[in-house]
Amino acid sequence: MKVFIDLKWFFLQEKKSYLTGTILLSIVAFFGLLPPKIIGMIVDEISKQTLTAAILMKWIVVLIVTALIMYILRYYWRIMIFGSSVKLARQLRNRLYYHFTKMSSSFYQRYRTGDLMAHATNDLQAIQGVAGSGVLTLVDSLLTGGFVVIAMAATISWKLTLIALIPMPFMALLTNYYGSLLHKRFHYAQAAFSSLNDKVQESITGIKVIKTFGQEKEDIAAFRLQSEDVVKKNVAVARVDALFDPTISLIVGTSFFLSVAFGARFVLAGEMTIGELISFTAYLGLLIWPMLAFGFLFNIMERGRASYDRVEKLLSERAEIEEDDRALSVVPSGNIVYDIESFTYPNEVQPVLRNIHFELRKGETLGVVGKTGAGKTTLIKLLFREFEGIKGNLLFGGKNIQDYKVDRLREAIGYVPQDQFLFSATVGENIAFGAPAFGQAQREAVAKMAQIHNDILQFSEGYDTLVGERGVALSGGQRQRISIARALILNPEVLILDDALSAVDAKTEEAILHSLKQERTGKTTMITSHRLSAIKHADLILVMDQGTIVESGRHEELMEKEGWYQKMYMHQQLEELVEQGGKHLE
Ligand code: ADP
Repeated sequence: MKVFIDLKWFFLQEKKSYLTGTILLSIVAFFGLLPPKIIGMIVDEISKQTLTAAILMKWIVVLIVTALIMYILRYYWRIMIFGSSVKLARQLRNRLYYHFTKMSSSFYQRYRTGDLMAHATNDLQAIQGVAGSGVLTLVDSLLTGGFVVIAMAATISWKLTLIALIPMPFMALLTNYYGSLLHKRFHYAQAAFSSLNDKVQESITGIKVIKTFGQEKEDIAAFRLQSEDVVKKNVAVARVDALFDPTISLIVGTSFFLSVAFGARFVLAGEMTIGELISFTAYLGLLIWPMLAFGFLFNIMERGRASYDRVEKLLSERAEIEEDDRALSVVPSGNIVYDIESFTYPNEVQPVLRNIHFELRKGETLGVVGKTGAGKTTLIKLLFREFEGIKGNLLFGGKNIQDYKVDRLREAIGYVPQDQFLFSATVGENIAFGAPAFGQAQREAVAKMAQIHNDILQFSEGYDTLVGERGVALSGGQRQRISIARALILNPEVLILDDALSAVDAKTEEAILHSLKQERTGKTTMITSHRLSAIKHADLILVMDQGTIVESGRHEELMEKEGWYQKMYMHQQLEELVEQGGKHLE
């Protein structure tokens, strides 16, 4: 039941719908008590031979009206509760997606793509189940079940009620047991099926190799083995499934048998009328569903609990950053001023950055270059508070970055690392990752800016081509460009390309930088790179070495200084010439 407590924030947020749903449900449960009662009364009238056409008509009208009211209210309470549960899945999905986009590469080294995908789909579904079917069955079984038992005991016979209820707890226990068994076996069957799929795909893509090496027989044998495994596991599912109905019937039958056997004796003894006995058995019929539901409820809860824990764990993956209660809830915009004396990584002694002072005006481009380990990434990541521990100030839009809510701050920043993680989803979905609602037009627009549009058109299914383990194999440069498109679709105030052009060839790099300049007027860009061509046109270039800025200025200024930058630039120019010359000779 703890999962209900975990989801308290959501129930509070949607309390109107849940409250309305519950009230409607209790009205339905109440009206549900009427038909059995009325039928019993009619039977009594018959046995006393006092039934007239007028009385019968009256009861029939009442029955029809009751049925109509229940029909309408049932519809509405389902909408209230199921409708809300969809909202929960959406909110959690957005939170996860947003979270994923901000995670560092070490996160993606620790989690496999497929697993993250599974969290975003299966786990959210299970949690949605708690807020939907879970709440529904809980409220339904408690209310309907409770009302019926009260009606049976208070208006007919408490003795017979006790007797008839004896088998019911077994039903809840067994549905719970079979339910979890079924789930487990179903899971195995699914896994077997998906590895069969993998196998088929592998064989088909590798058919040439298989033929060349004369491996057909072995491959067919392997397929047969896997296919038999799928059958075996599905039969195991069917076994439990087949047990389910007979068991329930047996228990329900026992309960009816007890009611009729003892009820008949009560009727003969004059303790109750025949009409009451008929109402009683009808009530008993109404109890079956709540009892079954109670059993299912535990399974829903169990699955929801496990899923919620997994999702929470993912969401809490980052070291907690302290946030001031009065932090501003606006997305920052404006000039960026680094005024940092030093920065030390948590749990380290030596600072990795020292004396970092510069200003970048809104709309300008910053280039950061230097050897590996010089501190480029660290410097950039400080802007979105990846780490605490700055000695000094870092201003964004005239205010310290700590003055903003972390989420708002990060909304302003689109960060593209060197190797960004792509989902096993379609190319289009990967591009619209942070903004799933954006359609084809927007996806294409950013893909064009990132110079990946033409590549995508070459894929077998264009934007619908699957990426990753089961889809198209992308080159490093293509991955980088898709990641850039993904960041661009959110049109961030600050776009950070952290060595994100390293696998892109020089010409494409130039085209990307050109379209960024054109399309992102008034928006800030930060680029770290090993290749100086990527930052040559920046408004401010910083050369870093051992955690500090050793040269800074525009390209022309740096070229005049005859320092590291000039030497490196000449060197890379020469390299490029040699490469081109080499191509020429080919
Ligand atoms: P660059 O991007 O220029 O290659 P980095 O900013 O990645 O440089 O690294 C600068 C220095 O900080 C390196 O010496 C690196 O080992 C160190 N460093 C990077 N990340 C961490 C971390 N999470 N904890 C401690 N030290 C780190």
